[in-house]
Amino acid sequence: PPAGGYRGRFAPSPTGPLHAGSLVAALGSWLDARKNGGKWLLRMEDLDTPRNVPGSAEQIQSQLLACGLVWDEEPIYQSERKQLYQAALERLNKLKYLYPCTCTRQTIAKALSELGIETPRHQEIVYPGTCRPETPFSYAIQDISQSHSAWRIALPKNTNIKFDDLSMGAQSQNLNQQVGDFVLRRGDGIFTYQLAVVVDDALQGITHIVRGEDLLGNTARQLHLQNVLGYHRPSYRHLPLVLDEYGEKLSKQTLATQIQVQDSQHALLELRKAATHLELSGLPDGKSTTLAEWLLAATRAWNS
Ligand code: GLU
Ligand code: ZN
Repeated sequence: PPAGGYRGRFAPSPTGPLHAGSLVAALGSWLDARKNGGKWLLRMEDLDTPRNVPGSAEQIQSQLLACGLVWDEEPIYQSERKQLYQAALERLNKLKYLYPCTCTRQTIAKALSELGIETPRHQEIVYPGTCRPETPFSYAIQDISQSHSAWRIALPKNTNIKFDDLSMGAQSQNLNQQVGDFVLRRGDGIFTYQLAVVVDDALQGITHIVRGEDLLGNTARQLHLQNVLGYHRPSYRHLPLVLDEYGEKLSKQTLATQIQVQDSQHALLELRKAATHLELSGLPDGKSTTLAEWLLAATRAWNS
């Protein structure tokens, strides 16, 4: 692991302003970094340009500041770091792990049904390896950077990944059976989240990843990429989606609503809701405390 102590991060995609769910991830990762005397970095995951919403990177930053969640170091933007992802891709190519794929969702579904595998709707498709070459080899670099095919990573047989999540406990995933060879660079040239997040977590020296439970299923893919690229493995803590004050799961509707932080009273109200979802207890009600005092109390209450 990199020297220099705890380095955590919050890595939103600027596809809109912060909502209640993303504030939970922001607050949880911030508290964990503060409690551990560490750094908290901000990374804008803005590679999927068709999904970016103009102005939301700035909006997210001002929402965080309004909540007193101040980051250390300059924020980084993935859109400015494409050479780094390309370099990682070229390393994987040299290791003969890459191959091009022009399958569409339909041809994959067809290939699967020919194998007698039904793919229920809304379930992640396990790529059956249709385009995978018999024997692995390296491609010319210009083939990778100029082709209109997607580039997948060839998984070694029985890639069974185990890890201990600090919140969810022991996890394991057989990548061959549950995911299949996955895409690192899309046909439209966009580097995927899986590749970019692994490169950035490594290059930023991230030691602790605290993020929402919705990302738990991506972790094994990321650990596999760390293994083959020779990166250190950070610790993972996926924050469970907790019940709201009425004992109900946060609905999509509630989750999608932009947080209201026009003044510190509103910001405190949003933070207190997020703290409830993180099961923090014994915090001041916020009426007689400043933002800074409340955040200090929350840091003390955080169970790291
Ligand atoms: N950009 C991802 C998202 O907003 C999160 C990445 C991460 O925390 O690993 O869902
Ligand atoms: Zn294919």
